[in-house]
Amino acid sequence: MDDILLMLPGPTSVAPRVLKAISDNIVNHRSAIFGEIFTETTELMSEIFKTNNQSYLLTGSGTSAMEAAIANTLNQKDKILNIVGGKFGQRFMHIAKAMGGNPQELAIEWGDAVTPEQVKEALDKDEDIKAVTIVHNETSTGVAAPIEEIGKVVKNYDALYIVDTVSSLGGDRVDVDKFGIDICVTGSQKCLAAPPGMAAMTLTDDAWKVIDNVDSKTYYLDMKKYRKAGSGTPPETPYTPSVSMIYGLAESLKIIKEEGLENRVARHEQAAEATRNAVKALNLELFPREEVSSTTVTAVKMPKGITDSDFRGTMRNKYKVELAGGQDHLKGNIFRIGHMGNITYKQLAITFSAMEMTLKGLGLDIEMGASLAAVNQAYL
Ligand SMILES: *Cc1c(COP(=O)(O)O)cnc(C)c1O
Repeated sequence: MDDILLMLPGPTSVAPRVLKAISDNIVNHRSAIFGEIFTETTELMSEIFKTNNQSYLLTGSGTSAMEAAIANTLNQKDKILNIVGGKFGQRFMHIAKAMGGNPQELAIEWGDAVTPEQVKEALDKDEDIKAVTIVHNETSTGVAAPIEEIGKVVKNYDALYIVDTVSSLGGDRVDVDKFGIDICVTGSQKCLAAPPGMAAMTLTDDAWKVIDNVDSKTYYLDMKKYRKAGSGTPPETPYTPSVSMIYGLAESLKIIKEEGLENRVARHEQAAEATRNAVKALNLELFPREEVSSTTVTAVKMPKGITDSDFRGTMRNKYKVELAGGQDHLKGNIFRIGHMGNITYKQLAITFSAMEMTLKGLGLDIEMGASLAAVNQAYL
């Protein structure tokens, strides 16, 4: 297999320790030995979420936890406020629709972030809103939303606050209890730097109160079953979990704890700053408004006259660096550099070296070394 440098907003490459962990042999998932691993993992998960609430593990990608959040809390025709500024915000709305809810879209221009005032206005207009969904880090546009300030707004209404931190937890500031998040969901393969395949969520007592009064719209993701199985002796999941991926997730959470969340966020902030400065040094344009730009992924407008397939194809095939493209109407118009998980100086230096050569090779007037100097400056 070619050694390709993954500069994606998920999946991210994982530490050798994590690879070693997933190679351990399988144990019975209904045994005391697995119960210990399971408890350790959910406790670590709650620490990373910064919550005193119990965390739950789902075998599935991040979307499974998004779906669980909606399917367990929404009655038919219930109104839900979906803040949509990109592909993942939209996903919550599509799930709400699929579950028979009545989604109310708060549309934000792709590339910008919602403001607390906009959320307040939407909630003031309609007192039947049962829940608010927001994506902390809108991976499709490279925008971070002010989830702490919005949490202060939602607290004043009788609505659950549901937050997607799939591409921010472990890379940007998330403090579930302090931000007043009722249901927080995440996935294993982004900033947590574990293999794809696991999702996690945490729920407040308020969320459970709603769940206990709603007919679950899902069988596999019925959270009442996860609560029951999780509180047994030994603690379990209702159905067979991906035992190996839980080994991997546990190891990656231990690595995060060893690094320290503050240090980890600071490392991501440094990578984001280096990336933005390097992009600007190449006279490329950032896609989002810079003030709301993400700490874990940078979206960049495709330079005029260069096609996505030439640009990302050369990056990948000639220089072995894999970047992400745009999604939906942004396809071909932007590219995205993921700097999440185990991101360090080394990967950024290689990425921008390759990008300078690629753009020069495609005929752009590039000052060789300019973006590298910007990266170096951020790490000096
Ligand atoms: C990746 C991602 C998801 C979930 O995607 P999966 O492919 O299901 O893991 C959800 N929200 C955001 C913001 C994401 O970046």
